[in-house]
Amino acid sequence: MQIGDYVRVTGWGKGIAFQFCGHPKDVKEFWVDLGDNNGFWETDEYEDDSRAIVVMVGDDRKFTVDTLNLALLNRSDFCGGCGQIGHNCED
Ligand SMILES: [Zn+2]
Repeated sequence: MQIGDYVRVTGWGKGIAFQFCGHPKDVKEFWVDLGDNNGFWETDEYEDDSRAIVVMVGDDRKFTVDTLNLALLNRSDFCGGCGQIGHNCED
């Protein structure tokens, strides 16, 4: 899945299309071992690809959802006017 892809989100039920915006960033801590009982804690920012940030088509509200709940949509599957799947109010 690429940033900008259109997706359906399981659990929203209403047939609203979303656009995939990427994965949320999270921070993890890990121990850097220098040997001889020396070392230090380091933090690292990483992308949590188990979750995804999506924005509703026709809206600018962002939601964070489980990546497993996303399913790719074709651009022709939904309405560019209101973002509803199986509808077309653009014409
Ligand atoms: Zn529409």
